[in-house]
Amino acid sequence: MRIFNINSQVTPDIEFIKKYISYGFIFNKILKNMDIFIVNEELMDVINPPLEEPEISCADEMIKSNANKISALRHPMAIAIANVFEDEKDKNMKRDEFTDISDILGKCRKVKYNVSGFYAGYSTIDNIFNSIFKYNSSLDKNMYDLINNNHSSIDTNKIKKAIFICYERIIKSSTDLKVDPNTAFLITLFHELTHAYMDSSKKLDYYNYRNRIIEESLCEAMSYDCFKGTEFDGDVAKFVFESDKPLSYKCGIYISEIAKTIPLISIVNRWKHGNVKEILFYFYEFEKLSDDICKVLKQGPFFNRTNIFYNIANRSDDYASNLLAMIIVEKTFEML
Ligand SMILES: [Zn+2]
Repeated sequence: MRIFNINSQVTPDIEFIKKYISYGFIFNKILKNMDIFIVNEELMDVINPPLEEPEISCADEMIKSNANKISALRHPMAIAIANVFEDEKDKNMKRDEFTDISDILGKCRKVKYNVSGFYAGYSTIDNIFNSIFKYNSSLDKNMYDLINNNHSSIDTNKIKKAIFICYERIIKSSTDLKVDPNTAFLITLFHELTHAYMDSSKKLDYYNYRNRIIEESLCEAMSYDCFKGTEFDGDVAKFVFESDKPLSYKCGIYISEIAKTIPLISIVNRWKHGNVKEILFYFYEFEKLSDDICKVLKQGPFFNRTNIFYNIANRSDDYASNLLAMIIVEKTFEML
């Protein structure tokens, strides 16, 4: 791991980072070849322009007013799964048509969200450095590595993975919450390392909102999970769950709830490998909704999980990820 400051006025306490980076031991392998660049707010927005996210209160209203379309709020998974069967009955509906959560939330008022961290995989590194050098043509490629205390020449062709972090922005958001910015830096780093671990960007369309909900909520839950049971637990919970983040990030609350029962890494690994349906089955286990599902379907006790799983297993991956995103959003709103 190397950390370079490109143009930020402030940098985190490197001794603190070195001491506590081991809380993210799960990322050890990725960290070995990871270069981390600290940038100011303006450059962060050049690297990753602000995203449009649905305003939380509007999204809440929209989800509730579409409850009949999506599912009832009390037991979303039971009804959502039951809807799979309802769809079957509707001869006019093609097998894999569904109410897309992106369409529902697309009608919401939007807020701009300026990110504090950004993970860049191999395919995007070149473009990013081009835009950085365009932004600051006098930038010296011989940079000081804060971790190893030496100068290192940045050869953009050799950088395979990079994380960009805006510490100025982290200081602002953590100070509001009375959280130590060094801890907040590590939280942000672990969030980005989860993106790097899953490396799902090459497989999925991040700009499709249902994918973003799943991806960001998993990263938030993972960054919290790294600190669970440590002296930073309370601060991290505040920074992850109470800060003014958009909906897709806030959904980490529900994932963290699930992670009390199911090992989070097993959910993350399934998303990494695109096994969305298996995640749905995990959620089913977590929610223990078999009775409700039987009631909804007006089936006796012999209507078992195999039937439900079989039905979902036959659906497209898009159908499964949409259902998963809906469940995550609905359950999150129950918890907010
Ligand atoms: Zn993220």
